[in-house]
Amino acid sequence: MLSHIVVVGASAAGLTAAEALRREGYAGELTIVGEEARSPYDRPPLSKQILRGAWDEERIVLRSDDLLADLDATWILGTAAVALDPSARKLTLADGQILGYDGLVIATGATPRRLPFGHDLAGVHVLRTLDDTLALRDGLRGARSVAIVGAGFLGAEVAAVARELGVAVTMIDPLPAPMIRQFGTEMGELLTQLHASHGVDVRCGTTVNALTPGTGSDLLGSAGSDGAERGSAGRVAGVELSDGSRVAADLVLVAVGASPATGWLAGSGLVIGDGVECDQYCVSAPGVVAAGDVASWDHPGVGRQRLEHRMNATEQATTAAKNLLGQAIPFEPVSYFWTDQYDVKIQVYGRSGDDFDFRIVAGDPAEGRFAALYGDGDRVTGALAWNFPRQARTLRQHVADQTPWAAVSA
Ligand SMILES: Cc1cc2nc3c(=O)[nH]c(=O)nc-3n(C[C@H](O)[C@H](O)[C@H](O)COP(=O)(O)OP(=O)(O)OC[C@H]3O[C@@H](n4cnc5c(N)ncnc54)[C@H](O)[C@@H]3O)c2cc1C
Repeated sequence: MLSHIVVVGASAAGLTAAEALRREGYAGELTIVGEEARSPYDRPPLSKQILRGAWDEERIVLRSDDLLADLDATWILGTAAVALDPSARKLTLADGQILGYDGLVIATGATPRRLPFGHDLAGVHVLRTLDDTLALRDGLRGARSVAIVGAGFLGAEVAAVARELGVAVTMIDPLPAPMIRQFGTEMGELLTQLHASHGVDVRCGTTVNALTPGTGSDLLGSAGSDGAERGSAGRVAGVELSDGSRVAADLVLVAVGASPATGWLAGSGLVIGDGVECDQYCVSAPGVVAAGDVASWDHPGVGRQRLEHRMNATEQATTAAKNLLGQAIPFEPVSYFWTDQYDVKIQVYGRSGDDFDFRIVAGDPAEGRFAALYGDGDRVTGALAWNFPRQARTLRQHVADQTPWAAVSA
């Protein structure tokens, strides 16, 4: 019988795990530790409705104060966990507190990767938290141009919002087209067209060599939201690309992916690879489970996986919580991910990308609505819908059933 469970990370996965523990009848002490001082909030709207200014902050709060109180948990917010000793079952917090536990949920998510240069300049942003979004939104309001480094889903979504706000956008990526890693070459070409048709200068196949500061000669001289004058030496004024070109920019967003937030687990003895390594039950060590963006687990049908998907945070946290309480449920979801860019919603189930075959099975890109399947030559591995939610749900079944590829590619 567990008597004190600690959840580290107070966001989508951490909150869901805490709720699942209570739902499953866990009545012991529950402590939730979170580095951010805010109550749990949802991240997907950060690069969409919040950045655009269409929603206010209250809309992304994940639970009301009443529902949070119903959890009967002790919340330690604004304090990071800094060390773990799983054999002694002790967790150390940044303020020096040491918490004993007999069950632990690791749900610390991921942190944005940075470039090895340029982040000391005003006007250079990353995007992970609400505070990041509010700073970027303020910056975009006063900006004429933004350079977005990285054309993954985050970069592409911000490019779309920036264009809607009337800001000139250059989007830069070393790969040949946006989101190729996630969706493959054919989709990358369609996304290039989508962004170009909205006026984005898509610079793919090139990297950023430097972020360049201003020289103090910008006659407009207006200040950014951080107070630094446009064109000033302490503020970014552009980027230098590996193809030799330069792009002027009042603002730079670095969106080059995220790393699992495992730094605090150094020396813990837990196996850390690309995330906290877990077995198929989301168990990392006796009494320790992990869920969400930080967790790498052994998917029974697919092999080792780490997903940065909102739905995965919920599903994995629910399974991990049940298993912490003694159940043994393998975690084998059909993963789901979506992205919104301009008036396009792309939904993806399962595994997709350049390693897989790709075949459009319904609709037509020229009509702005289609659905496609991905396969490994043998079986269907993934399904994608572009403004076609009904087809997304239908095709999901092929992914779940692992329909033979030959049956859908004839
Ligand atoms: C801008 C943005 C847009 C997105 N859009 C989409 C989308 O359209 N579709 C989609 O499927 N997914 C999207 N995602 C991904 C989705 O939001 C994540 O998969 C989800 O938030 C993961 O939840 P999590 O709880 O695992 O991690 P997180 O939400 O990152 O939460 C982890 C929490 O742990 C805290 N923490 C970290 N280290 C410590 C520590 N040492 N001690 C205590 N607390 C700690 C962090 O401060 C954070 O609050 C988006 C993500 C971002 C950032």
